[in-house]
Formats: sequence, structure tokens, C-alpha cells
Amino acid sequence: MRRNTSVVSVGNVKVGGNNDITVQSMTKTNTSDVNATVKQIKDLEEAGCEIIRCAVPDMAAAEALKSIKQQVSIPVIADIHFHYKLAIEAARNGVDCLRLNPGNLRDSEQIKDVVKIAKERSIPIRIGVNFGSLPPVGGIGKTKGFSRHMDMVNTLPKASEITNDTYSVVDHMIATALWEISLLEQMDFDDIKISLKAFDVPTTIESYRRLAKLVPYPFHLGITEAGTAFAGSIRTAVGLGVLLYEGIGDTIRVSLSDDPVKEVEAGFEILKSLNLRNKGTTLVACPSCGRADVDVRKLANDVDQLLKKTDKNIKVAVMGCEVNGPGEAKDADIGIAAGAGRAIIFKKGEKVKVVPEENMLAALMEEIENTPSSV
Ligand code: SF4
Repeated sequence: MRRNTSVVSVGNVKVGGNNDITVQSMTKTNTSDVNATVKQIKDLEEAGCEIIRCAVPDMAAAEALKSIKQQVSIPVIADIHFHYKLAIEAARNGVDCLRLNPGNLRDSEQIKDVVKIAKERSIPIRIGVNFGSLPPVGGIGKTKGFSRHMDMVNTLPKASEITNDTYSVVDHMIATALWEISLLEQMDFDDIKISLKAFDVPTTIESYRRLAKLVPYPFHLGITEAGTAFAGSIRTAVGLGVLLYEGIGDTIRVSLSDDPVKEVEAGFEILKSLNLRNKGTTLVACPSCGRADVDVRKLANDVDQLLKKTDKNIKVAVMGCEVNGPGEAKDADIGIAAGAGRAIIFKKGEKVKVVPEENMLAALMEEIENTPSSV
């Protein structure tokens, strides 16, 4: 069962409660380069991205957000580290949400100034806790007397290393989040969402699980610095999969060292795997084996590319042989099973057509167009 949370509005997208779990991404352009950033956001919108976050490393970036906001239609979040004035400027320039890192924005008076403008503008704040930039051990909410290069975070046990009651990374991540949550609550501000990201999957899972019992706010899920498209997608799917299956998580971002469009695609695949979203087509493809009558790898990838052009909620199967294919994929709305020099098109496991191999892709797409969405 989905965790019961409060709801925040990021522009016109609601996060938390019973609202759809949304997929978000982050631009990888220089935010001050308005044209490049707008282009990337539009590419992401086309791929289905529902919320976008832009890094705000300096005032030029904070100012550029005004023009970016005017040219895109999905909500924009300003990602703020170190300098609270960048958050204030971003809010003035119309962003839909602020992400504050409590690891490097630790001056409560400065945070209060940010909360004031967030209140005036009715925009939420994400408290974005990140393993890589946690406050020094013993230094939560303190601004003096600590070097961020000697934070001692690496000396804390991670989730899988906890053997007794020793203070762990999980404790430190939760304590960091709770410090900022209480600061915001003291100002009567509860337009909050939270993330607790680490590269270490068990640490991430435990942190979210424990905080889920302590606060009512919606969660943004992610595994930080997850890696390349292949390894990073798997790592993220494992971590987020556990949490989402337990009903924890309201919006997700897959962080990949790759084109951000792949982050969005991976995000939807994770949600579709758990039947949490049904956006677009779902491809079922057999792994191929000695019975295959066709190059399944090529056929599956060709179909995958073609399916990107349709938004229909439909399950499509690509199977390598006509003997086992239709039966093994009987759950699919529509499918193709290759034979020697020909292919069977089937619906819910029943043969509807036989076509020559050279026409099979066109025939499959035609059938998909003629098949109603399954949802
Ligand atoms: S559908 Fe046919 S080719 Fe594909 S894995 Fe099954 S038996 Fe092998």
C-alpha cells in the first residue's frame, strides 16, 4: 500500500498522496546558456519528463531561469548548494520549487530568508540530503569550526555495516533531514518534500524507510551518482524498486552519466515494472535461443525504436519463433513471432495474420495503430 503523505504542488504537478509517481530529470547544460537549456528541457518533455531541475551554480544561472521558465511548460526546480542568495534569486525569477542541500546550506538564518520567499511565492522546498555532501559529523546546522574536507562521514558505518548501536550514515542522513525539517516547521512551512540519496543502495533504502515512519512529507527517490546508463539504471532500479514496492516514493529521478532522456526512459521502465505507471508502450521480448528463426536482438531493438513514436498504452511482444512465441507472450496485447521467412502477428496469444518477413515491421506497426490502448 502506498505511504500516506501530504501533497505538494510543483507548478501544475502534484507530488504525494494518491497522485501519480512522477518522473523527473536534471538538465546537463550550463543553465546560463538559455537556448541550450531550453532545447534540452524540450527534448526531455517530449520523452515524457514531468518535472525538470536545473543547477544554479551562480547568479547568471539564477537570472537565466526567468527566461527558461517562460519558454518551457513543465515545472522547473532550482538546484541550490552553498549560496542561499541563489535560491532567493531563483524564486524571484519564477521557479516552481527550490532544492536546498542541508549539507552545505547550514546557516539557519539564511535558510529562514529562503523560506520567507518560498512562502510568499507558494513554492515548495525539497530538502535534498545527499551522502556526498553531508554535513560534518557533529556539525549538522553548524557553520563554523568544521572543514568540509574533514567531515568524517566516511568513518560512519553504512547500512550493511551496522553491527550495533553505533551512529551510522543512515542516522546522519536522517538527522540532517530532521534538522532542516524542524527549521521549516518552526516557520509554519510544511510545503516540503525530501530526498535521502546515497550511492550505497542499502543505505539509501534504510534512510527512506526510517524517515517514512517519522514525517508525513512526500519523498523524491534517487540513487546518487548511479553511473553509466547500463549500471546506473540497474543500481537505481534495485534501490528504487524495493522502496516503491513498499509504497515509498512520490517522484523519482534516475541519475545517469548519459543523455538525460535515458534517465526519463529508465524512470518510466522502473515504474512500469511495478505497474505504478502505464505510460506508453511496454516491450516484451524473448531472449532468443537455439529455436529462433530470426535475429531477435535486431528485431527487438528495431521495434523498440518504432514504439517510441507511439504513446499508446499497449504491451507489444517480439518473439523469436512461431512455435513457442505466441504462447509465451500471450499476456501481450499484440505481438510478432518470427518463422522461417515469415512472421505471425498475434493478439493475446491468438494468431491474426501471417506476413512475409520483409513486411513484418510495417505489418506490426499497422496492427498497433489499429489496436486500442489497453488502459
Ligand atoms: S520464443 Fe522461441 S526463440 Fe524466443 S526464447 Fe522462446 S523458444 Fe527461444
